[in-house]
Amino acid sequence: MGREGAGPAVAVPYAAPALPTPLAVLTTDVPPGDDDAAATVRWRRRDHPTDTRADTDTDPAAPADATDDAGHGAVEGAPPGWRPSAGSVAALPGAAPVGWLVGVGEGRAQDWRAAGAAAVRALRDAPASAVSSGDEGDERVAVLRPDRPEDTPDSAGDWASLALGVVLGSHRFTLRSDATPARLRVHVDVPAEHRADVERAIELASATARARDLADTPSGAKSPAWFADTAVALVGDADGLEVTVRDEHWLAAEGFGGVLAVGGGSSRPPRFLELRWSPLGAGDHVVLVGKGITFDTGGISIKPNAGMADMRTDCAGGAAVVAALRSLARLGVPVRVTGLVPLAENHVSGSAYRPGDIVRHRGGTTTEVTNTDAEGRMVLADAIAYALEELAPDVVVDVATLTGAMKVALGVRTGGVFASDPGLRAAIAAAGEATGEAWWPMPLSADLDPDVDSTIADVRQAPGGPGGIAAALFLRRFTDGRPWAHLDIAGPARCDSPHEEVAKGATGFAARTLVEFCAGRASGR
Ligand SMILES: [Zn+2]
Repeated sequence: MGREGAGPAVAVPYAAPALPTPLAVLTTDVPPGDDDAAATVRWRRRDHPTDTRADTDTDPAAPADATDDAGHGAVEGAPPGWRPSAGSVAALPGAAPVGWLVGVGEGRAQDWRAAGAAAVRALRDAPASAVSSGDEGDERVAVLRPDRPEDTPDSAGDWASLALGVVLGSHRFTLRSDATPARLRVHVDVPAEHRADVERAIELASATARARDLADTPSGAKSPAWFADTAVALVGDADGLEVTVRDEHWLAAEGFGGVLAVGGGSSRPPRFLELRWSPLGAGDHVVLVGKGITFDTGGISIKPNAGMADMRTDCAGGAAVVAALRSLARLGVPVRVTGLVPLAENHVSGSAYRPGDIVRHRGGTTTEVTNTDAEGRMVLADAIAYALEELAPDVVVDVATLTGAMKVALGVRTGGVFASDPGLRAAIAAAGEATGEAWWPMPLSADLDPDVDSTIADVRQAPGGPGGIAAALFLRRFTDGRPWAHLDIAGPARCDSPHEEVAKGATGFAARTLVEFCAGRASGR
C-alpha cells in the first residue's frame, strides 16, 4: 500500500483526431430558395492576363490605386485596390449574410483550385454572425457563382479544379481543444455535362484528405497497429475493398527481414497492410506499395533534432496508397489493384538494428546495413519482393518519403519519378498533370548501379553519391526486371508554406496521381 510506480503501465493520453476530418459538402446545383438566404461568393477572372503588375496589388502595403491610372485592372463593385489574382478574397460591404469576391487569376488549373480553396476558407473563417445559418442549424451555406458570364470556366477540367479546391481547401487537421469545426455546404451551379467530372474531383479531393489524415496524426497516437486499424476503418465506406492486417508473427513466418529489422527498435511492433480491389473482368493488375514508417528517429544513425517532428509524416506514401485504394473502389475503376503498406516505427533502443548488420529480406536477398536512417528502402524491398512472389503484378509502383536528397533536388512541390521504362514514367507524370500534382523524371543512372553492390552481402543499403538515385537503384535490385515505377515524395509530402488548396502539414501528395494512373491502365491510356 502506498507504493508508487507499481501496477500495469498506464497509457499516455496522447491526443488523436476524430477521423475522417470533416470536409465541405459541394453540390452541383443550387437549390431553389438558397440563392437568397445563403452567403454568396462570386469568382472573377483577370481581364488582362499580361498585366503582371496586378499580382502585387493585393499587397496591403501597396497604394490602393497603384494601377488605376488607366482604370487598368480595377474591378467594378470591389473594394479599391482589390485585383482578381488567384485565391485573393475581398469581403463586400453590406448586411449579413456576407458576400465575397474571389479571384481566379488567369484561369489555369491551379488558379481554379486556389479560388475554390479561398472561397471555402472565407466561409469557414468568417464570424458566425456574418454567415447565414438559415434553417441549417450550425451549418454554413454559401452559393459559389461566376461574377460575370465571361468568368464561367471553359472546360470540364476547370470545373473539376474549382470543385477540388473547394473540398480540399476545407480540410484542416487540428487537435486544438477549442476546435469546433463548422459544417460547410457550398452550392455551385455546374452545367449538367460537367457534373460527372466534378463528382470525380470531389472523390479525388477526399482521397487527398484521407491521406493527409493518416500522415498528419502525431506518432504518440500513431503506432503501426493504430495506422493499420485506422486504415481499415477509413476504407469502410468503399464497397468491395478487402483489407488484411498482418502482425509481427506473420512477418517473421514470411521472412520480412527488412520490416522486422526496422521495427525492432520500437516497443510497438510492425504491421503489414494489404488492400485488394479486384473488380470482375479486370485484366491488368497494378500493385501499389507505400512506405509506412509511423515515426522515423533515424534509429541508431539518429537524425538531428531539427525537423525530426516532421517525421510523423514518414508514412505519407502508405497513407496515399490507402487513400487511393479507397477511391479506386468507390469510383469502381475497372482495374485490379493491390495496395501494400509495410508499417514500422524506426526507433532507438537495445533491440534496434545497427549499421553493419546484414538483413535477409523476403525472397532471400541480403542487405548490408550502412545507415539505419535509410529504413524506408528496407521495408519497401520486402513488400516489392512479396508482390512479385505472390501477386503476379503487371506493374509495381512504390511511393515513399524516401530521401532528403530528392527534396534538395526538386524542392517541396514536385515529386521525383523513376521507372523501368519511359512510357511508365510518362504515364505517372501525365496522371499527376491531370490531377494537380507535379512530377519530374529522374534517371536510373547505369554508372551508379555498381555502387549498390556489397562485398559481404547481395546489396549495400545506402551507397554514397546522389541519394535519391542511389535509393532507386537499391530498390530496383528487388524488382526482377519487371515493370516498376518509384515515386520519391520526400519534398511534396509536407508543406510549410500553404498555397492553393494545400495547407500546412501533410499534403496527401500522390494519392490523386495513383488513382488517375490506375484509371489510365483501365482505359488503356
Ligand atoms: Zn529514415
